[in-house]
Amino acid sequence: MTTITGAQDYPQLKLHIDGDWLGAEGRRSFEVRHPATGQVLAELPLANAADLDRALESADKGFKLWRRSTPEERAAVLTGAARLLRERGDVIARNATLEEGKTLQETRIELHGCADLFDFYAAEAKRIYGRVLVRPDGERSLVMKEPVGPVAAFAPWNFPIHNPGRKLGAPIAAGCSVILKPAEEAPASAMAVVQALLDAGLPRGVCQLVFGVPDEVSRHLLASPVIRKCSFTGSTVVGKHLMKLAADNALRTTMELGGHAPVIVFDDCDFDRTVDLLAMAKSRNAGQVCVSPTRFYVQDGIHDRFVAALSQRLAAMRIGDGLDPATQMGPMANARRPEAVEGLLADATARGARVLTGGERIGNQGYFFQPTVLTDLSLDARIMNEEPFGPVVAAARFQSFDEVVEQANRLPFGLAAYAFTENGRMANRIGAALEAGMVGINVTRMAYADAPFQGVKHSGHGSEDGPEGLAACLVVKSIHQH
Ligand code: NAD
Repeated sequence: MTTITGAQDYPQLKLHIDGDWLGAEGRRSFEVRHPATGQVLAELPLANAADLDRALESADKGFKLWRRSTPEERAAVLTGAARLLRERGDVIARNATLEEGKTLQETRIELHGCADLFDFYAAEAKRIYGRVLVRPDGERSLVMKEPVGPVAAFAPWNFPIHNPGRKLGAPIAAGCSVILKPAEEAPASAMAVVQALLDAGLPRGVCQLVFGVPDEVSRHLLASPVIRKCSFTGSTVVGKHLMKLAADNALRTTMELGGHAPVIVFDDCDFDRTVDLLAMAKSRNAGQVCVSPTRFYVQDGIHDRFVAALSQRLAAMRIGDGLDPATQMGPMANARRPEAVEGLLADATARGARVLTGGERIGNQGYFFQPTVLTDLSLDARIMNEEPFGPVVAAARFQSFDEVVEQANRLPFGLAAYAFTENGRMANRIGAALEAGMVGINVTRMAYADAPFQGVKHSGHGSEDGPEGLAACLVVKSIHQH
């Protein structure tokens, strides 16, 4: 029994394979920790090769069954699961905060985002239309949309509820089965999402939930003839590795990979609103968000004032355990993150960067890190080239439009990009010029159930959310008949 405050409803951790919840039973295990203290929350059983084979066999059967379901049956499961998630929201959000660290307010928003996505795909399942093309002499062509097949899906820890929801909602709406491997660091949230789908009537075999040694699991699943698609969210390095494995089995892929979002703040922006929005966006989930603003290019006329105001706002944030309602920013999610950020800061300062605020870990327990603002960065500082995935602002000054566009598009990444200006013409020009899958102009929100979410360049390919996310789970068949 754990003694961590707030952990009274944290579940016994299990795999879900072929309709059964499976516990330790001699399997290897992984220690799940509470990021605010570093204490062990629970032991997670890890799948072995026999478990993965059983999951594959069940996913094969589950697909053969689910592909014949009607759109109404799929919609009923998704809306039922959305309702159950909302009903169980308090416990699910608290457990997500316990295992990931972000504030309760953030995990509640995330939970509703997941439920909204299920509702959206319930409606979208009924809009999988085909086409009939009329030919001479009664001949015709049918254009059919069919589910791509069993999907192997890998979700990271930073949105422990919403990421698994994204990996399940569209495939289930399309009639696919899914083997989901969420992050081992945040398993209870994924279990809760799967449980809601099962309780809403999802048949045995349509969804398997496995945890394991990531490279073992992905190699095993992606080599199987059962799997027809690989969907991954995580770092670009791992994404490229999985694309190679997927290529050997000619799999369809959807890749949501790393980013390094530029933010362009023009002299004519709405100053106070821009500072507010960007301070919130940067501190959200302690910067561990793939669309987190990272490189802040601020125009000459307001640079010094803007960077000072942003530093002040970030320095005033209340940082603490995400379960405490007064907390505005929680700890980082695991021990690797503050270590990685420290490495990036040491490298930046050794190359002449100045720390305007932050720069240090907080306390001697858990994985807390101060919101940090850096200036005077050299272009070859690692943080100007590698995703920090932490609460760090890399600020730079610019003068002209052409200069800032060149800087913003300099990196191989292209996930999110932001611009702040009150000039409508400038908003149009910058929106068109930025190389990114998503651009926010005077806004920082990027994810909506009905809008596609994606990267370009090394940030990946394929979309999640929106009708495009469903299309990514469908294949097209043309039938020409007389
Ligand atoms: P990581 O690259 O080792 O892992 C990222 C995710 O990929 C984890 O969920 C992990 O379980 C999974 N993973 C790793 N190797 C895998 C494999 N061979 N097969 C299948 N899944 C695999 O790094 P990390 O320490 O967890 O996170 C660090 C970096 O990952 C961050 O700096 C960030 O760039 C990236 N990341 C991105 C997102 C995102 O939303 N795009 C989310 C989490 C992490």
